[in-house]
Amino acid sequence: MRVYCLALLLYALVLAFTPSVGAATSSSTNKPNFPAFELSQDGPGRLEIGSYMGVLVDISRAIGLEQARAQTQAWQPITRQSPNFGFTQDSYWFRFQLVNRDTKALTRFIELPIPFLDDVRLYHFVGNALVDQYSLGDEQPFAQRAVRHRNFIMPVQLAPGNNEIYLRLASAGTIEAPLRIWDPVKFYAASNDENLAQGAVIGILLIMVVYNLFVWMSTRDINYLYYICFVASYMMFHLTLTGYSFAYVWPEAVRWNSFAISTFAASSAVFTCLFTDSFLKLRSFSRPAFCLVRAMMVCSAALFALSFVLPYSWTIRIAAAITLPITITALFLGYWRWWQGARFARFYCLAWTAILIGIAVLNASKFGWVPTNVWTENASQIGIVMLVVLLSFTLADRINNDRTLRLNAQAVALGHARKARSSQAALIQANEQANRELEQRVLSRTNDLNAAMAQLSQANARLQMLSTTDGLTQIGNRAFFDGAALTELRRAERQRAAVSIILMDIDHFKRINDTFGHPAGDACLRALADMLRPRIDRAGDILARYGGEEFIIALTGVDLDGSVALAEELRKATDRLRVEFEGKPLRFTASFGVVSVVPQTALSLEDLVSAADRALYDAKRNGRNCVRHSTIT
Ligand code: GH3
Ligand code: MG
Ligand code: MG
Repeated sequence: MRVYCLALLLYALVLAFTPSVGAATSSSTNKPNFPAFELSQDGPGRLEIGSYMGVLVDISRAIGLEQARAQTQAWQPITRQSPNFGFTQDSYWFRFQLVNRDTKALTRFIELPIPFLDDVRLYHFVGNALVDQYSLGDEQPFAQRAVRHRNFIMPVQLAPGNNEIYLRLASAGTIEAPLRIWDPVKFYAASNDENLAQGAVIGILLIMVVYNLFVWMSTRDINYLYYICFVASYMMFHLTLTGYSFAYVWPEAVRWNSFAISTFAASSAVFTCLFTDSFLKLRSFSRPAFCLVRAMMVCSAALFALSFVLPYSWTIRIAAAITLPITITALFLGYWRWWQGARFARFYCLAWTAILIGIAVLNASKFGWVPTNVWTENASQIGIVMLVVLLSFTLADRINNDRTLRLNAQAVALGHARKARSSQAALIQANEQANRELEQRVLSRTNDLNAAMAQLSQANARLQMLSTTDGLTQIGNRAFFDGAALTELRRAERQRAAVSIILMDIDHFKRINDTFGHPAGDACLRALADMLRPRIDRAGDILARYGGEEFIIALTGVDLDGSVALAEELRKATDRLRVEFEGKPLRFTASFGVVSVVPQTALSLEDLVSAADRALYDAKRNGRNCVRHSTIT
């Protein structure tokens, strides 16, 4: 909506600066092929006489001034609505009469506002006298002009009474003669207004070029470059067509000026094709469309080159002929693209619609199909301003679209990244959880294992204990004695200390069993062990049940005397022992065999115990309840 408002505003602006058309007041006499216009100091400041002159078409281009004046039969009134004769090789003669109603001479400007006419000649007759003449045209240096203006301005001093004006036009381009008669003061005022309007148009185009140049420098989007080149080309085309560039840019370059219109029209066409192709992305959109636009571009480029060598009359015709198809193609492709869903083509279509109307109107006027007036003359300017502004809008709109797409894509990517991160976090968390559980399981398994190990070692210890302990008396058994005694024997060997063995055996124990029963015997054995245990408790002392009613003691660091004394003490203690069994006191004695030695390397435990056993046997043989000792041989 904003764009439509902008477009309307621009139209309004351009129209506001466009000078209004003065009423063509014709006071033609009864001679329509030689009309007369009455002028006075107080008369209208501007007269549009282009459509009311007498015209003589010179196909041979050979008719001179005198012949033209003489050939009264060939003069015709202009029948068409506009003095626009299109592209023609013919030269045209025009004539009219200016009648000065004042008594003194009147200065008037005759303006021919078609700056690209090649050859313009004006002859001013008073009666039969040629009082003034001009030979102008864009093939002569600008400096030769009587009035420094982009259009052909021919000042005339109108003598009181009748003045006849003859005008001859010849050109390689179109012939147009929208002639105006001006009061000089009014002319300069109107000229200022027009310059302002044209300046506004050029200003807008320049701003667009500079602005988009900066945009291109920052975005490096090739579309901007094509756009800038197109606008610059068109601006130069427009300046050349309106005569401004000849007046202000290259006033001496007559040759260049004679074909520059074709050159700029061609370069505008080239960049239109390039822009259309690039902006609408035709290569990927439609191969035929791409080829068509490329072909048009190549033709335009060829025309651009040829404009420097071929006659202007040819190149301007080709330029005018290709402009319309290119514009229509650009527009058609835009609508097609839009129809196929490319939203960025919206403003593009609007822009080309505006210029198409403008160029169509201008071309139609050039071919003489529509009258030349302020609307047709300015149609392309209005159209171009709208085109340029809307195209700039189009580019900005597409950048905006692209940015939105990019932002959306970024947002999606960000969302994906966030999702990936959260999945990763969840994975890490799950991993940590699994690790924790695993650790806990390992810990619990380790604890179980440790407990089992502890139980096992307890059981082992218990087994060890059971395997080395006598179940009845709870003192060491023979296996325990064999292990422990051997260790002590080896230590004594190293330390050269004495080792003693005391072997004791209960006397007539069988009788106790036989008399009081086996449990009574057991009780006696337990009692004897309980009596012995506290007495044999020094470090290194070993006490064990060696067989049925035999007990054995190993002593380290105790010599024979010491061990015999101890055996004697034990014998007495045994004798004193009373064992309560079922209310009856049981008593018994024991015999002791002692052996003591400082062990040598060769001495075995068996030898030692055998020696003790021999001593014990000795004691038994000697009456029992006594201590005997033996030595090792
Ligand atoms: P001596 O004075 O010659 O040693 O005569 P003794 O009867 O003590 O010797 P003998 O070797 O003939 O008898 C030993 C007896 O000890 C035989 C056996 O029944 C008994 N005995 C061996 N071990 C145990 C035991 O653990 N408990 C009980 N109650 N009796 C046992
Ligand atoms: Mg015995
Ligand atoms: Mg015995």
